[in-house]
Amino acid sequence: MRAWVVERPNPIDDQPLRYVQKTIPTPDRDELLVRVLACGVCRTDLHVSEGDLPVHRERVVPGHEVVGVVVDAGPDATGFADGDRVGIAWLRRTCGVCRFCVRGAENLCPQSLYTGWDADGGYAEYATVPAAYAYKLPDGYTDVELAPLLCAGIIGYHALKRTSLPKSGRLGIYGFGGSAHLAIQVALAQGARVHVLTRGSAAQRLALELGAASAAGAYDSPPEPLDAAILFAPAGDLVPVAMRALDRGGILSIAGIHLSDVPPLNYERELFYERELRSVTANTRQDGREFLEFVGKQHVSVTTRPYPLREGHQALRDLKAGRFQGAAVLIPETS
Ligand SMILES: [Zn+2]
Ligand SMILES: [Zn+2]
Repeated sequence: MRAWVVERPNPIDDQPLRYVQKTIPTPDRDELLVRVLACGVCRTDLHVSEGDLPVHRERVVPGHEVVGVVVDAGPDATGFADGDRVGIAWLRRTCGVCRFCVRGAENLCPQSLYTGWDADGGYAEYATVPAAYAYKLPDGYTDVELAPLLCAGIIGYHALKRTSLPKSGRLGIYGFGGSAHLAIQVALAQGARVHVLTRGSAAQRLALELGAASAAGAYDSPPEPLDAAILFAPAGDLVPVAMRALDRGGILSIAGIHLSDVPPLNYERELFYERELRSVTANTRQDGREFLEFVGKQHVSVTTRPYPLREGHQALRDLKAGRFQGAAVLIPETS
């Protein structure tokens, strides 16, 4: 099969990835073998390729927003049949017995493994997944539309939950890429009023088209105080900006896996009155199932930019440069 591997982590313009021939993987006893139909390009793939997140596996195949069809399975893999359309996401395995797993916070499991980081992912024609961590996918969406839902969508959903946004609350969204354009639709469907703060007039336009009450620059003040905010941009210097925009008791959740350093916070201006700062670490399978169930009932519009698989490198460069709206999706030539 054809696949991209992280040859040597480096800035994306120095070609850290290589497009290679690889043997089609063999599923372990509890795994499915999936023929990839589409794989979303996530900012985390960029962090793994560039070394912001040190690779956990030599020459790993990135990609953790995989939509595919089951073509084979190990003897202990249950719940899916050949021909089923399945999703493969970031969370790949957890221990199931630690204090975090047993209390329903498997996203915090110290033994957790991740697709496209600890194990090969979906920038390839085939990929494997433990059956217990594969997702059934809703109808009503194309393969390309479903791919970004599997990380951008699920993480955005989890980040929104982490804000504990009150009913009919005022939500700020900082940064408006693949994850944010899905999270806003969930928030609006739940009755929130949403203000988007992001660079780029195209992103601001998309936000307004999707129903934002206002859209302005990332460092601008929203037109009213916020009950909650989500920081999607990987820019730590937006943390004090967003904290100042919160009303009393407001909560900022940081959706990214990687963030540049946060400048010192001023207690009076940026934290007092019980404002809170929360990080977001991956997601549980329960988050994923809830989100996919939600989008099965309430159709969301998914803005995608398809690329042939062989243009994976270009897709990552375009993501870094902010050259498209929504989410890039790689499509193998064979699908
Ligand atoms: Zn665990
Ligand atoms: Zn991701």
